[in-house]
Amino acid sequence: TRELEQRIAERTAELQVANQRLTALAVTDALTGIANRHALERALQRGWQRCLHSGEPLALVMADVDHFKQFNDTHGHPAGDAQLQRVAACFAAEVEAVDELAARYGGEEFVLVLPGLSLPAAMQRAERLRTRVEQALQVVGLPGSISLGVAALVPDAGTEPAQLLRLADQALYRAKRAGRNQVMAALDVARTGAGD
Ligand code: GH3
Ligand code: MG
Ligand code: MG
Repeated sequence: TRELEQRIAERTAELQVANQRLTALAVTDALTGIANRHALERALQRGWQRCLHSGEPLALVMADVDHFKQFNDTHGHPAGDAQLQRVAACFAAEVEAVDELAARYGGEEFVLVLPGLSLPAAMQRAERLRTRVEQALQVVGLPGSISLGVAALVPDAGTEPAQLLRLADQALYRAKRAGRNQVMAALDVARTGAGD
């Protein structure tokens, strides 16, 4: 019986390790090693709840690599992958607090979740991020930049996290239209926590 118990204990420990590995994989983007979209959605929910209770604004930065199709066409897909890894590293380096999160949102789109930050404060972080990426790519001697959209709002019962993503995405679209390699704030100022 002792031997059987010993084997069961070993099996249980092995399963626990395997489970932890699966959990880590489920929230990590395979190419860049930063959080994936699933992890982002969970962090957004957490941030939403925190700010709903505290009355603080929740800010979100959405970024997209500029002219990335052209970059792939010119330098090849593997070089494009390496470029995405560099951008991801810049996002990871921008995380300052435990409940902030940098994530890969889609192909060449990245998001930074900033609970407790007003729109002006989040704009500063986004501009620092833009510069960080510009410099990181300059160092390796490759062209490239990102455009960023920033939104912030104080969550209430009548709003939902998708609204914040939508506002940031609209701001990002305007940053592209205005010439790329720049930061734009969401227009919907009345609901953005700009006054904090
Ligand atoms: P814009 O400045 O308007 O964003 O132009 P763009 O070329 O970046 O935008 P578009 O949406 O036309 O192209 C996105 C490109 O991103 C096309 C796609 O091949 C590339 N891409 C998406 N995911 C990956 C990836 O994982 N690796 C590589 N190398 N490229 C990717
Ligand atoms: Mg895109
Ligand atoms: Mg792009």
